[in-house]
Amino acid sequence: MSPTILLTGGAGYIGSHTFVALVEAGYTPVILDNFSNSHPAVLDRLARITGMTPVCERGDVLDTPWVQSVVTRHTPAAVVHFAGVKAVGESVAQPLKYYRQNVGGSLSLLQAIESAVDAGAAPLPAFVFSSTATVYGDPDEVPVRESAPLRPSSPYAQTKLTVEEMLGCAVVARPAWRVGVLRYFNPVGAHASGLIGEDPSGIPNNLMPFVSQVAVGRRERLSVFGNDYPTPDGTGIRDYIHVQDLAEGHVAAVRALLAGQPGFTLNLGTGKGSSVLDVVHAFERACGRPVPYQVAPRRPGDVAEYFADPARARELLGWQARRGLDEMCADSWRWQSGNPAGYAGA
Ligand code: NAD
Ligand code: UDP
Repeated sequence: MSPTILLTGGAGYIGSHTFVALVEAGYTPVILDNFSNSHPAVLDRLARITGMTPVCERGDVLDTPWVQSVVTRHTPAAVVHFAGVKAVGESVAQPLKYYRQNVGGSLSLLQAIESAVDAGAAPLPAFVFSSTATVYGDPDEVPVRESAPLRPSSPYAQTKLTVEEMLGCAVVARPAWRVGVLRYFNPVGAHASGLIGEDPSGIPNNLMPFVSQVAVGRRERLSVFGNDYPTPDGTGIRDYIHVQDLAEGHVAAVRALLAGQPGFTLNLGTGKGSSVLDVVHAFERACGRPVPYQVAPRRPGDVAEYFADPARARELLGWQARRGLDEMCADSWRWQSGNPAGYAGA
């Protein structure tokens, strides 16, 4: 019997790629999503890639009794909790939304699971949580290790750290919980089929979707936020990780927890930093056309440089990122050029 893995937010960008990786690894993923930031057309795409029609529970992770019924019906061996909101700028303007969705949503999910377990309706699943490298804030040194000081610099990052802490308390109270916290660096790229990818609504905040929308002609030019950072070309440096590598990291985390590995907190990154201009030039190679850009002032709150030390994930999970920046850009371009309007055009 192939173990069931419940993916909250499984219709979203990272969740949909993890769905594919889990199927390839022999698991049976089930999606729980309210489609507040995703499109139902992703389900057909997942069916085309995997050859199986995804099981999808449509609803809100904040609806605790309903989530309990989902857990009771599917008795997942593991739950991967992607559902949440993720825009740093919006979290500054609407912090309470972020606390409600990210902290409240995680609380609701954990309570629903514990209630199902206490009612004898489901075994305690392993739990994997989507955290973020922004919990480190502006790091003292790179590469950033998991032991680096935690200085969340936005309400978004603070909510993620609060959930990490809540999970720590839940494990103390109930040592049978096995919890993997994954701190992602900068996920980019798309599945190599070009059928699923990142589909932000409105003007993209993040670099790679903005660059790909410029390349496809949806936007005129990129603004490069600052070229006077203390980096080799003056632009900000980040650790971009291919979303399919990230998805495979989740499979490795689930596998380790199901094999009895105690909980862990791990960076998921490549260990390699790339500048904004590195990304622009790699994208130009991928799409074969220029990506017009202009230098603009620094974006408030941005840090000059951070990239992961991914050694611990390699040691504990036997996982490491394999795909480089050129592959990330080529796959982003295949998705973007094949779906210029994202899923809405599907
Ligand atoms: P996404 O918005 O594409 O996916 C999130 C999914 O959760 C969406 O399908 C959305 O409809 C669903 N969702 C949101 N609130 C919900 C709710 N209350 N109930 C049910 N479903 C709900 O985001 P993503 O990029 O795939 O990110 C997934 C997770 O990873 C998030 O928790 C995010 O904070 C975290 N993360 C993302 C990044 C990144 O750069 N993409 C980096 C670090 C961490
Ligand atoms: N960036 C940019 N123009 C954009 C969006 C991003 O120059 O339109 C830069 C940003 O200043 C940072 C890098 O690209 O140096 C990555 O930004 P992103 O928002 O993708 O990730 P984060 O800053 O959250 O790590």
